[in-house]
Amino acid sequence: MKKQILCVEDEAGIRNMIRFSLEREGYSVMEAADASHARAQVAESLPDLMLIDWMLPDLSGPELVKRFRRDELTRDIPIIMLTAKAEEEDMIYGLDAGADDYLAKPVSLKNLNARIKALLRRTEGFDEQHSISAGRLHLNQDAHQLRIGNEPVHLGTTEYRLLEFFMQHPGKVYSRAQLLDFVWGQTTYIEERTVDVHVLRLRKTLKQYDAEQAIQTVRGAGYLFSTENAA
Ligand code: CA
Repeated sequence: MKKQILCVEDEAGIRNMIRFSLEREGYSVMEAADASHARAQVAESLPDLMLIDWMLPDLSGPELVKRFRRDELTRDIPIIMLTAKAEEEDMIYGLDAGADDYLAKPVSLKNLNARIKALLRRTEGFDEQHSISAGRLHLNQDAHQLRIGNEPVHLGTTEYRLLEFFMQHPGKVYSRAQLLDFVWGQTTYIEERTVDVHVLRLRKTLKQYDAEQAIQTVRGAGYLFSTENAA
């Protein structure tokens, strides 16, 4: 499903340039040349993010942002303001109105794309409430808790981090050295055997719930998390 971005900008040249760039990044782009058209577009289809120019012919950008923020349907949609006004005061006014971020014109497309990505990631995170599931295994990343089916399962800190890493990267083999790097960090003096010890502990816990098959040993290569086997 393509993410939809609404670009509200009265200058056709800038709008086209932004649309072209965003479409190339894989977004679907809706356009509006003024505030009333923008509201009509939103009523038709809710975008995942909005870019709103500071100066619009019928309403100021910040005023439009305020209206979107007052409406329950559009309250949480991320908004980036585009502005020729680079003064700090104006920016603060824009953010006060409810924009999440702002970008001064001339717009750097590279910058714009980076900000869009960051904002979309943030809102996605909220939707998912920081959790990962694979089969019967559910990790609540905020609380650092594992549930198998409906049962809460206690894990040590290292076992938790190991499982979290595995669940974030299913179906891929990791060597002991890679796991040390990714899960333990830069502690090079830890022996690779340590990984085996913690994998063993993790499996032992999972075994009580018949879920130990989720972590597979790949002979001569390392370990792999299998989502199918976690079912
Ligand atoms: Ca304008």
